Amino acid sequence: MDKFCYSCGAPLGVPEFQGKAENYCIHCTDAEGTLKSREEIHQGVTGYLMSWQTDIDQPTASKRAEHYMKAMPAWAD
Ligand SMILES: [Zn+2]
Repeated sequence: MDKFCYSCGAPLGVPEFQGKAENYCIHCTDAEGTLKSREEIHQGVTGYLMSWQTDIDQPTASKRAEHYMKAMPAWAD
C-alpha cells in the first residue's frame, strides 16, 4: 500500500520524497529525519501552492496552506 507523508501528503513511494523518517517526506524533515516545525512546513506548503497556482496572492496561499495542513495527521487539531 502506498504511504503518504503525515505532514504534507507527499507520496512516500516516490524516491525523490523519501527521507530518513518512516512517516515523513524529505521536505518535512531535517537531515536527521526529525519533523520540522509547523511554521516551517506552513511556509513550505504556502510556497508550493504559489508556485503552481499563479492566480493567488501570498495571504490566500497562506490560508489555503493552513486549511490543507489541518487534513494531515501530523497537524490535525
Ligand atoms: Zn512531507
